[in-house]
Amino acid sequence: MTATALMNTYKPLPLSFVRGEGSTLWDASGKRYLDAMGGVAVTSVGHCHPRVVAAIRDQAGLLLHTSNHYAIDWQHRLAAKLTALSGLDAAFFNNSGAEANETALKLARLAGWYKGVHRPLIVVMEGAFHGRTLATLAASDGAGVRLGFGAYDDDFLRVPFGDVAALEAIARRHGADVVAVLLEPVQGEGGVRPAPEGYLRAVRALCDRQGWLMMLDEVQTGVGRTGHWFAYAEEGVLPDVVTLAKGLANGVPIGACLARARTARLLTPGSHGSTFGGNPLACRVACEVLEIIEEQQLLGNARRQGAWLLKALRERLAGHPGVREVRGKGLMIGIELTEATGKLASQAAEGGLLLNVTRGNVVRLLPALTLKEDEALQIVEHLVALLSPLSLSKVLAEAV
Ligand SMILES: *Cc1c(COP(=O)(O)O)cnc(C)c1O
Repeated sequence: MTATALMNTYKPLPLSFVRGEGSTLWDASGKRYLDAMGGVAVTSVGHCHPRVVAAIRDQAGLLLHTSNHYAIDWQHRLAAKLTALSGLDAAFFNNSGAEANETALKLARLAGWYKGVHRPLIVVMEGAFHGRTLATLAASDGAGVRLGFGAYDDDFLRVPFGDVAALEAIARRHGADVVAVLLEPVQGEGGVRPAPEGYLRAVRALCDRQGWLMMLDEVQTGVGRTGHWFAYAEEGVLPDVVTLAKGLANGVPIGACLARARTARLLTPGSHGSTFGGNPLACRVACEVLEIIEEQQLLGNARRQGAWLLKALRERLAGHPGVREVRGKGLMIGIELTEATGKLASQAAEGGLLLNVTRGNVVRLLPALTLKEDEALQIVEHLVALLSPLSLSKVLAEAV
């Protein structure tokens, strides 16, 4: 693997795959891996789902791109489907999570502009991750991703995640200048941290009282990941704006920003756009993914397998001196270790298990929503062995 012509932005493991099926990946030597990472919550219906493969093949032979200068039937169908599932009223499509969040941020600014707010402020959370464009970077927390880029912080007010009192303090101090609150229902990159129960409802109530937009970044949690179409469904609230991307088209790049009518209406022809956004291929595959999730009842599977994994991991890792907490929702599970580990992902891969470590010390599992019982069991056995006090102390000692 020569990577000399690539910019040095990633630190990949010395591993590469040539084929996948469901939750299994194979490298060129024929070694198989159990994929508990799902391409970072992207391959939600598993690798090479036959229906996804067929949809891509068929659409590639019909039409890939015509631009938004013409109507795109699949875009209308996907918007209809997503608005029906979400309870929101309209969709805008682009190509990534960061772009979907840019759309949300632009909607918030536009709302402020129409209201005559001179310098509209958006409330964001500690530990947040919203993407790598300049605006979404400024909305994100963490020196690691922001260092050196002179992020445009001035548009954002940051509060501790899950802290209602801190939000109320913002309302008292800056209420009239604030236009929106943007948050992830479960912080993903921030360490698989679910919002405390009742928090989304409190945010909704405060936004209603203040006339702020409630904007949820469901780029990672959306489309079934937490065992619901959208994580907010669990708290019975309806946000004003929701962004989606990762799991929506199983690896074909797509992003979506959904909004309620009153907010969606702020955009007019020419005010926003995307060359690739909403092309027939991406939208058709996303429609297929949504149908697969429905027909294979994958929300229920995600809830079931996720609950089982959470329980099994909690039981098997109880009292472990190196494990601080096991938490998560649906098939978004984090194991917080007491210390940072630089080697755990590569050690796991050597044993045939693919996982991710975020925030330095949180093992993150994001398997396909199609995960089977025996695969869930294998994940637990692998992890328990990997985290056994003896091997864990070795991994921690080798940490970089
Ligand atoms: C991954 C992620 C993003 C960024 O998505 P990209 O497609 O990489 O731009 C934004 N928000 C959340 C919550 C994410 O998990």
